[in-house]
Amino acid sequence: MKSRNLIVILLAVLLLMSFVPGCRDNSTPNPDDLERHERTFFVMDTMVDVILWTAKDRSEVADIFSQVDDELQRLHAIFSAFEDDSDVAKISDAAGIEPVQVQPETLEVIQAALDYADMTDGKFDITLAPVLRLYTFGEDARVPTQQEIDEKLPLVDYSLVEVDMQAGTVFLPQPGMRLDLGGIAKGYVVDVATDMLRDLGVETGVVNAGGDISFVGPKYDGTPWRIGIKDPTRHRTHQFAVIELEGGAIVTSGDYERYVEQDGVRYHHIIDPADGQPARSCKSVTIVAPNAMLADLLSTAVFVMGPEAGMALVESLEGVEALIWDAQDQVHASSGLDWEDRR
Ligand code: ADP
Ligand code: MG
Repeated sequence: MKSRNLIVILLAVLLLMSFVPGCRDNSTPNPDDLERHERTFFVMDTMVDVILWTAKDRSEVADIFSQVDDELQRLHAIFSAFEDDSDVAKISDAAGIEPVQVQPETLEVIQAALDYADMTDGKFDITLAPVLRLYTFGEDARVPTQQEIDEKLPLVDYSLVEVDMQAGTVFLPQPGMRLDLGGIAKGYVVDVATDMLRDLGVETGVVNAGGDISFVGPKYDGTPWRIGIKDPTRHRTHQFAVIELEGGAIVTSGDYERYVEQDGVRYHHIIDPADGQPARSCKSVTIVAPNAMLADLLSTAVFVMGPEAGMALVESLEGVEALIWDAQDQVHASSGLDWEDRR
């Protein structure tokens, strides 16, 4: 009789334990303990939206957001091509004159950009700035003539960039050369924010800088994150795919993000360094990668490389997947990509 009582009590305790927070033996936090918090920051000409699910209280969360904000603003001041005293502007202004001492983060991003530039056959080129600056989008939109572009193209060559890790300097040897980190810096900044949140003990969350997305751990309820991918031909209203991820990063580059139409032709902001013209073989490239910097760089690079060469590069890289919508409206998925076709 006694032992039966004991068994009943044991069973009751076990049953209770499975509902009590903290008693679950897996690493997924109990969703009931987590509260959703959201904050938007403005950096790198983009809204960076951060959503957290955490058991921390309001004042802890406020403190975390303010630390993230400080760090994002610091990085913006280093990387922005439009702030006169950013590292990027200082390096560009000293082109042909002298090497410039920069922050470790600047060295890291530039070195990564140069390492991958080789793999992209030069299609990803951070010295494209003199050509990029000829295009303006928005209110005073303007498309340059081929003659204007041809005058600037000799200044575009990433292989000339001299990075001295020991001295902490970067040098552009030709006068008139300039840097633009627009195809990589946003991803880097997203990674920094994500790592910070993780280090500060946030259980789970998302950092989204206008489509450059990175995840702080698995989702709060243990199910995969689901990311909808815009149909580039109807980007305001339609998604053509859903990708499920447990973590890591996902970034999409599209020809619909920044462009100007002239004589029925769309001129957008992803440029082929070969001729200085907008890259024409893709409409949208989505990259899944372990971190957002790599995904950001590759989304731009693969867009320029085109579906064949771009997909070959993706297949050669560990932990990297791609979903490409090409100029003929064909969709290409890399071999390891788990995706739902919504067309
Ligand atoms: P977005 O910034 O709109 O998310 P991308 O990640 O594709 O889009 O980056 C586009 C930016 O990358 C451009 O605005 C420009 O600053 C830069 N860029 C454009 N073409 C190239 C290229 N071939 N190589 C390196 N950077 C580029
Ligand atoms: Mg990019």
